[in-house]
Amino acid sequence: MAVPSKREIAQFWARSKQRDEFAPHLYGLDHPCCFACGWFSEHWDKPTPRARWQRATLDRAHIVPRSLGGADTVDNLLLLCRPCHQESPDWSEPREMARWIAKRPERPSKEWETLEAWFAAAAKVPEFQDALATIAGEPGAQQRAMDVLRDLLGQAGVHFGVGISPGTRVAVLRGAAERLRDGDTAAIPADGAP
Ligand SMILES: [Zn+2]
Repeated sequence: MAVPSKREIAQFWARSKQRDEFAPHLYGLDHPCCFACGWFSEHWDKPTPRARWQRATLDRAHIVPRSLGGADTVDNLLLLCRPCHQESPDWSEPREMARWIAKRPERPSKEWETLEAWFAAAAKVPEFQDALATIAGEPGAQQRAMDVLRDLLGQAGVHFGVGISPGTRVAVLRGAAERLRDGDTAAIPADGAP
């Protein structure tokens, strides 16, 4: 029998009477997240909820492990982020998993971590903040700043598996400050933009 898909697992728990015990962070099928800590990953941009669940970086985790007789069925599977999966109990009693989930602290989303990383970089580049302040009153200023950032990010070397390094963020912001100051708005549209 095939292992249920992530979306099938989410659908089961969204309707389960035991949702509060095993999936307290699952609010709806539009929001893929770790059942234990609420962390959610990228891929919000995927057009359908099905695609979002499939692409979400969440593990299918057994409540009772296979090695202890647990089945590959939706009622024995949860969706957990990697740290939660690694730290959760492998035990024959499902209630141990529920107890562990109840004590699991919330973890901020990947989007939030990304935003914090950009804020940290921006704090190191006062010229970027100056440039933003200078253009702030102009029409379309925000869009222009976003276009410039996106364009520069497209030119950056991205460390595979690590994402954008702190040094790259600083370099991108410094380059953006220059462009915004010079009024250079030439930007390559982002993927999928018309
Ligand atoms: Zn988690």
